[in-house]
Amino acid sequence: MAGGTDVHEPFDINADTLREECGVFGILGHEDASALTALGLHALQHRGQEAAGIVTVDNEQFRAERHLGLVGDHFSDAETIERLSGKAAVGHVRYSTTGETILRNVQPLFAELDGGGIAVCHNGNFTNALTLRRQLIRDGAICQSTSDSEVVLQLVARSRKGKIVERFIDAITQMEGAYSLVALTSKKLIGARDPLGIRPLVLGDLNGAPILASETCALDIIGAKFIREVENGEVIVCTTTGIESFFPFGKRPARPCIFEYIYFSRPDSVVGGRSVYDVRREMGRQLARESNVEADVIVPVPDSGVPAAIGFSQESGVPFELGIIRNHYVGRTFIEPTQQIRALGVKMKHSANRAQIEGKRVVLVDDSLVRGTTSVKIVQMIREAGAKEVHFRLASPPIKYSDYYGIDTPVREKLLAAKYGLEEMRAYIGADTLAFLSVDGIYKAMGYEGRDDANPQFTDHCFTGDYPTPLTDLSEDQDFVSPPRLVEVG
Ligand code: SF4
Repeated sequence: MAGGTDVHEPFDINADTLREECGVFGILGHEDASALTALGLHALQHRGQEAAGIVTVDNEQFRAERHLGLVGDHFSDAETIERLSGKAAVGHVRYSTTGETILRNVQPLFAELDGGGIAVCHNGNFTNALTLRRQLIRDGAICQSTSDSEVVLQLVARSRKGKIVERFIDAITQMEGAYSLVALTSKKLIGARDPLGIRPLVLGDLNGAPILASETCALDIIGAKFIREVENGEVIVCTTTGIESFFPFGKRPARPCIFEYIYFSRPDSVVGGRSVYDVRREMGRQLARESNVEADVIVPVPDSGVPAAIGFSQESGVPFELGIIRNHYVGRTFIEPTQQIRALGVKMKHSANRAQIEGKRVVLVDDSLVRGTTSVKIVQMIREAGAKEVHFRLASPPIKYSDYYGIDTPVREKLLAAKYGLEEMRAYIGADTLAFLSVDGIYKAMGYEGRDDANPQFTDHCFTGDYPTPLTDLSEDQDFVSPPRLVEVG
């Protein structure tokens, strides 16, 4: 049995992927601020499904709604939106990497400071937050959550600078790692991107109301105009009278996360001036240039593998077919009285489209391979549908290193490519051949000659191990992961 996995266990074809941590949204000066924020978060739901929250401000009065679960489950009723009155709002969808999935970790986080309140939302991960948090607690800070994001609020509160923007800048200049932040005070909407711009943030406008969002798809859903990307290392301050920018880190070359193009961002978003869909299709074309194989049909692993599979098909000239059909109405799981029925359950979410597979040499195209557990089952499902050969192609390089910048990656030992070479991985997933897009290939797909090792154009350390910032919390072998003192039992 390939890879020691029970292929008859029900499986989620998208289980073995990296998970992006969070999406942020903010708007200032609009009547429907909370409704527009709920829509923006809905468009960003792919960046986090564990929890969602919105904070509004109306004449110095802040109002908050935070819930575990999806945006649509909690922010689609008129009463909730009416309760969140005010012409300014910030919102957050969460997928936790630091801090448990408990209500007190749900963002936006809020603090009452002298001079007024501030709400903060964070996408990314601070690689020195645990070190700073320990120091803050030693100095008497009372932390309300176990989330790394709260450290920013604590530092803003302790800053001895004058104005709120100065205090905010004072705080973020002490942070390391990856972050896109959106904050709201009674009069300002503030955004910030880390000095390398690892996580995305864009500026939009809706009838004069400035908007900050993780991705352009959140602007599209509300009919807002895309203005520009918030630059790496920029602190942008929006008020009802205009927009001001600060660059407290000086100018540096950007190194955005390349995985936003591979998997995290929605295909209809434009990131760094590039259509994510076009980039993924080009990755598929480059993959075919690098590792084409005699075949009869190109089949995407839905949904994230679709653009790359189209590119592979266009480049190789081999027809593209939907050989795996996704059942969009999975919903309630069926009672499975016997193992036999359970085995049937395997096809609950995805099933092989036998007519496109049987007797054929199939090329399966997916965006990335992490643990390999799901790939084993996909290959098995395609073989059971009668495929003559199964060739697996990944539109990204092998993932060999864990992420510490806001992506939920398994520990290194669980990464298939960190354990095995290409041939062992091929045997593990049970494919006839296996190939990954090369690191240089992914840079070519982005329009470069290749990777500039002296000044890499992107953050790509899950493939290269080249971590772009210090990892302070990892350097100190202290038991940072001590369990939270307070556990919510009610
Ligand atoms: S390891 Fe780097 S390139 Fe990979 S997902 Fe994380 S930030 Fe992006």
